[in-house]
Amino acid sequence: MANKSRGIVFLGAPGAGKGTQAVMVAKDLDVPHISSGDLFRDHLKRGTELGKLAQTFMDKGELVPDDVTIGMVKERLGQPDCLNGFILDGFPRTVPQAEALDAALAEMGKCISLVPYLRVRESMLMERLTHRWTCKACGAVFPYEAQPPRTGCKKEHCDGDLYQRADDNPETQKRRIEVYMKQTAPLITYYRQRGLLIELSGEHTIDYVYRILQDAIAISKYCGE
Ligand code: AMP
Repeated sequence: MANKSRGIVFLGAPGAGKGTQAVMVAKDLDVPHISSGDLFRDHLKRGTELGKLAQTFMDKGELVPDDVTIGMVKERLGQPDCLNGFILDGFPRTVPQAEALDAALAEMGKCISLVPYLRVRESMLMERLTHRWTCKACGAVFPYEAQPPRTGCKKEHCDGDLYQRADDNPETQKRRIEVYMKQTAPLITYYRQRGLLIELSGEHTIDYVYRILQDAIAISKYCGE
């Protein structure tokens, strides 16, 4: 690869802190943050057919079928802002998605350079997910107590409204974690075998995890090195 591009894939259960860290790393590296969940929520907001289909799965905490999801993310990765790299958050979530991603990146002359895996105990995941606010405008996530909704987002001058995601309720949440264990956790082995995985505890503070990540990214290779 001619340019110094980086492709980073965040792995971890719902509530592990992937989104929070992914946004920070993307800003740091000046590459797009691509969240498959956000892409679906955007389709939902716009009332597209894809959005309507996705909602039936999202409401239940199930995964949207692979073919639909892969097509959507491939299209996003092909956009010009991904030329120097990308941060994937929430994709891939199944082994077929990971394989399709490898094939698509190879076709585009891109690659994955690092896969940070944020490990968090299940009891803490449940606690975090049922107690968080999400910003409608920028997608930032806050613990309930730290950011009461009346104050709005305030992150990086954002003034978006805070809301509780429809799928952040205990029943759907439980299902999302089950689905993660069964369908997504095998990706830990998938990426470890390819020498791309770094495993870190996501139970520390946001800043602490971010520092470890910054160090790991600094010493990781660029694509093609
Ligand atoms: P997230 O915002 O990553 O928690 O995703 C919210 C929901 O969107 C998930 O519970 C799934 O229903 C759907 N979704 C997001 N990413 C994927 C994916 N890679 N594969 C299938 N479904 C997904």
